[in-house]
Amino acid sequence: MTGHLWLPYTQMKTAPPPLVVARTRGARIELADGRVLIDGIASWWTACHGYNHPHIAEAVRRQLDRMPHVMFAGLVHEPALALADRLVALLAGQGPAPRLDRVFFTESGSVAVEVAMKMAVQASLNRGRRRTRFVSFRDGYHGDTFATMSVCDPDAGMHARFAGVLPTQIAAELPRDDAAEAALDDLLARHAHEVAAILVEPLVQGAGGMVFHPPDTLRRLRRLADRHGVLLIADEIFTGFGRTGAMFACHAAGVAPDILTLSKALTGGTLPLAATVASSEVFDAFWSDDPGAALMHGPTYMANPLACAAALASLELFDSEPRLAQVAAISAALSRGLEPCRALPGVRDVRVLGAIGVVELARPPGAHGTPDLDTLRQRFVAAGVWLRPFGRIVYLTPAFTATAAEIDALTSAVRQVLFGAR
Ligand SMILES: *Cc1c(COP(=O)(O)O)cnc(C)c1O
Repeated sequence: MTGHLWLPYTQMKTAPPPLVVARTRGARIELADGRVLIDGIASWWTACHGYNHPHIAEAVRRQLDRMPHVMFAGLVHEPALALADRLVALLAGQGPAPRLDRVFFTESGSVAVEVAMKMAVQASLNRGRRRTRFVSFRDGYHGDTFATMSVCDPDAGMHARFAGVLPTQIAAELPRDDAAEAALDDLLARHAHEVAAILVEPLVQGAGGMVFHPPDTLRRLRRLADRHGVLLIADEIFTGFGRTGAMFACHAAGVAPDILTLSKALTGGTLPLAATVASSEVFDAFWSDDPGAALMHGPTYMANPLACAAALASLELFDSEPRLAQVAAISAALSRGLEPCRALPGVRDVRVLGAIGVVELARPPGAHGTPDLDTLRQRFVAAGVWLRPFGRIVYLTPAFTATAAEIDALTSAVRQVLFGAR
């Protein structure tokens, strides 16, 4: 049942029809036909408090009565002021310098990354040294717009079709060891004159394959960025707000980027909102008597007050409810539930970090007559869970409020659907 809709990442001709959702509650999705699914992915990692949290709903309702939206040029409002303060304070957390202290609000993750890239390029232009390219990493994913597609994995990413159309960036291997750090050091030495920034998803590369790297890799990147005088952009759109076990992945590594992007769980999965947070040094490059040196960006719905109110309420929940402790408990439960898959045939890896659990298969579903992705997805629905495996990855990123029984149901559905094991 798609009517006149055009769905994302979907071959409309062959994909099974989408399911119609009637309502959501906690970690559950209720379908129009009465079936109820346990959501294993929290709607693309957004619904960290579960669906329909009353505290966020109440904050949005109050804001709706007062002011649903107002333009953001020449005007500001209390929800945006308060949210910017709150984010800056949170990010200062344990982080060392440089201090992230200017927040630019947009409405989606891709646009937040676009703005981060534009900030990095324009900062260089404003300083009279033109730097227009980016170093990004294999398995990375930073969005679907043209600039962000150019910094996704150039080969394995979902944008391979656009090769030749996009600006060519500098794709590198993440420096996981000394040899890789030396190689990246060389690469940067050759390209530093044209590189505006290094762009990385800290600790976990999400949509590009749920690939983990150790905190030390981020410290290597910080060192290299400093040595070559390029900016470091941390894309925490997936990892931000507790997903990896720390409030922010950069904090877990003790690394401060020059620019950091947030979205996904920012409003607890209620309204679209994103933020690009820059250090005072980056901001200083725009501070001038020249009107042309101003940051040239401004989405119509930026800093939407309803979304800002939802984000403030979501951040309050991290204080009033034991979110990070829940993430730690989920982490242990995911390990217990998924670890048995490691010994099974066709499994390349099982990995867990925070509230992220991954079973990586040796071959993509559909190879050698195995059930394809669409079939797997339908089997998960039949098993009463909502999971969206992609590539060779079956992953769980549940709401932090999911109960122990719900996490068990999710991991046992993975074992049962993939391997017929209980
Ligand atoms: C989802 C995601 C984006 C893109 O966000 P959208 O809101 O889908 O545009 C960018 N970077 C990372 C790391 C993401 O996970």
